[in-house]
Amino acid sequence: SNDYRVVVFGAGGVGKSSLVLRFVKGTFRESYIPTIEDTYRQVISCDKSICTLQITDTTGSHQFPAMQRLSITKGHAFILVYSIASKQSLEELKPIFEQICLIKGDIENIPIMLVGNKNDEVNGREVETSDGEATARRWKCAFMETSAKTNHNVKELFQELLNLEKRR
Ligand code: GDP
Ligand code: MG
Repeated sequence: SNDYRVVVFGAGGVGKSSLVLRFVKGTFRESYIPTIEDTYRQVISCDKSICTLQITDTTGSHQFPAMQRLSITKGHAFILVYSIASKQSLEELKPIFEQICLIKGDIENIPIMLVGNKNDEVNGREVETSDGEATARRWKCAFMETSAKTNHNVKELFQELLNLEKRR
């Protein structure tokens, strides 16, 4: 079908929901509202036709294992989010990345974007841009720093993910 399913993973509080809401609705809120699991649909044009971009915003790394496996199985592309203000949040992505490898196998053909969010938090930075880039090289995936707060690189993130898909 013309459905393109993107799944957003990452530790609680890194800004997954904020990135999705910024992209889909153009809004940002300062408060933290824990997510169960939400799916957003956007009709977009791709390759001269219309397709539906389906974005699943997950609960974080403590998602039920069965649900996590299901999201990975159904997903076409993945956004792995950490906060540049938390080294721990980057470390928490590793088991999720490994799960994706296990389930999807040939990882080089799966569009994956490693995202360092909250790059507006200049004083609280714990993860250097070069550390994010190095992780992305190891994982053979793309990399970007974003801010859902200032709207830095948010549109570009989803655009780039679609570009990765086309290059497959
Ligand atoms: P989630 O648990 O990963 O979905 O995280 P949320 O989207 O709920 O965001 C957690 C908290 O971080 C909220 O208080 C947001 O306002 C804040 N937040 C999200 N994105 C950013 C960002 O880019 N910069 C800053 N400074 N705060 C952010
Ligand atoms: Mg959330």
